[in-house]
Amino acid sequence: MKQQPSVVIIGAGLGGLFTGAILAKEGFHVTVLEKNANIGGGLQTFTRFGERFDTGMHVIGGMQPGANIWKICRYLGILDKVQLMDVDESCSDRLYFAQDKQYYNIARGRQGFVDSLSAYFPQESENLKNYVDAIFTMTSHVDVFNLRPSQGYLSLFSQDPDFLMAANEYIAKFIQDERLRSVLSYMNPLYGGREGCTPAYIHAIISVLYINGTSRFVDGSSHFADLLADVITSRGGSVIVGDGVSWIEVNDHHVDYVRTRSGKQFTADYYISSIHPCTMLRLMDEKALPKSYRNRLDSIPNAFSAFSLYIKLKPGTFPYINHSEYYMGRYEDIWKFDNPDKPWPLGFLFMTPPDANQGEYASRVLLTAPMSFDKVRQWEDTTVGHRGDDYERWKEERSQELLHAIEEMHPGFSNCVDRMLASSPLTIRDFYGVKGGSISGFSKDCNQMALSQVPVATKVKNLFLTGQNVNLHGFCGVPLTAILTSEALLEPNYVINKINSCQED
Ligand SMILES: Cc1cc2nc3c(=O)[nH]c(=O)nc-3n(C[C@H](O)[C@H](O)[C@H](O)COP(=O)(O)OP(=O)(O)OC[C@H]3O[C@@H](n4cnc5c(N)ncnc54)[C@H](O)[C@@H]3O)c2cc1C
Repeated sequence: MKQQPSVVIIGAGLGGLFTGAILAKEGFHVTVLEKNANIGGGLQTFTRFGERFDTGMHVIGGMQPGANIWKICRYLGILDKVQLMDVDESCSDRLYFAQDKQYYNIARGRQGFVDSLSAYFPQESENLKNYVDAIFTMTSHVDVFNLRPSQGYLSLFSQDPDFLMAANEYIAKFIQDERLRSVLSYMNPLYGGREGCTPAYIHAIISVLYINGTSRFVDGSSHFADLLADVITSRGGSVIVGDGVSWIEVNDHHVDYVRTRSGKQFTADYYISSIHPCTMLRLMDEKALPKSYRNRLDSIPNAFSAFSLYIKLKPGTFPYINHSEYYMGRYEDIWKFDNPDKPWPLGFLFMTPPDANQGEYASRVLLTAPMSFDKVRQWEDTTVGHRGDDYERWKEERSQELLHAIEEMHPGFSNCVDRMLASSPLTIRDFYGVKGGSISGFSKDCNQMALSQVPVATKVKNLFLTGQNVNLHGFCGVPLTAILTSEALLEPNYVINKINSCQED
């Protein structure tokens, strides 16, 4: 009888858990090793002031019935246990530009999106339609996004001639009005968009996901991590927390074992790293991977980081808002979030996460404001809880700046705040083990795609990569890479065919 193949996965974030769940379902014996006390990475929640707060999964795409991540959850048998709330159809996102105090309410769906923005820019109505048609066409060419079998492993590419155009130039190809170009770029902060660098396909995929409809986890995102872990453990695998990997032993292009901080050794047929690739490099001998590969990984820029506020509201004082709000200072700064010399904050995401049995009033607010790591560089050698009074003062000042900006959108908001907690790029760096505290990992550059494209396979024969730094980040991107990584251990299109075959009933 053929022995069950085994795999050790480093990191129990979205990438490690999705990849582990798929491989466990396909017969692998899976062991996931996590450094933090809780699983989930970006799916983790924490409780403070008696409220549960999400850390890195506020708005999610791909979970509309029949959409790609919805189908993957169905294949894994967890779909009916995921607790989600869809945002409002008539206004799924609301933007506010402080420069001219203008609000833009954006409706869900292709037609809704075009109609709602045409109301503000009637002269651009036809251009908007052409733009939306074009991003849907571009996205339709991406095999893995559409869970379509493809040739080979790297199926995120397409033949669309504009695929690798800079996203801001791509938008400008269709849209004349400078303000509308900025409005259409409002999701930039969510994917670390950089002017002249971020490829059009990233913009197209994220925009299409949002236009098709977004959802929020009810009562926090950590239950989703638990569901994925259950798929692994119910098939005999294990998810071990509080014992991060401190060494990967590589000999002759082959991983022999990994060792954890507590000194335990784990061996398997295959090893998958779901942590930041540069963090992984520090866990192995310099000679384990070619110098050119190491240099390449080290030289890929990371997307910017963020400063977050977690706010507990006084009961019955602030309404629950069933859409995300995006504050933006100036139109011209929409592609400038990576510029440390710009005044801060340039903009932020503001949302009220839903509770079970959500009523009229919100219990808490989450705010994510993109921030360059340079803003906290003076404390980069400090650790959690030991960063000093000047750091605490700096955080308090930034928090007050954000509160001040919220007042523009919601006058009187400060009176609704009961307690509040802030986190900075340093928190993200140390909590997830991510270089530069990046919120979405490696940044893609259309001028140097060879540099930013990281394959799932490595020169170490039994070592593979998964997670947000390979292909796309976020709730939709990471599970798609999990498929590609799993197929590298199985065979091309194996998982995609399985996912599709179980949707037929
Ligand atoms: C503030 C913030 C807001 C975000 N908002 C959204 C959003 O609204 N929607 C969305 O789709 N995406 C959002 N994202 C992005 C999303 O969270 C990530 O793309 C996704 O969680 C990445 O998953 P991952 O598994 O690749 O990495 P992670 O979730 O970072 O998981 C990596 C795991 O590896 C662990 N680890 C690290 N080193 C070791 C080690 N040596 N040994 C063992 N374990 C280790 C970490 O502790 C972590 O649990 C946000 C991110 C941030 C930071």
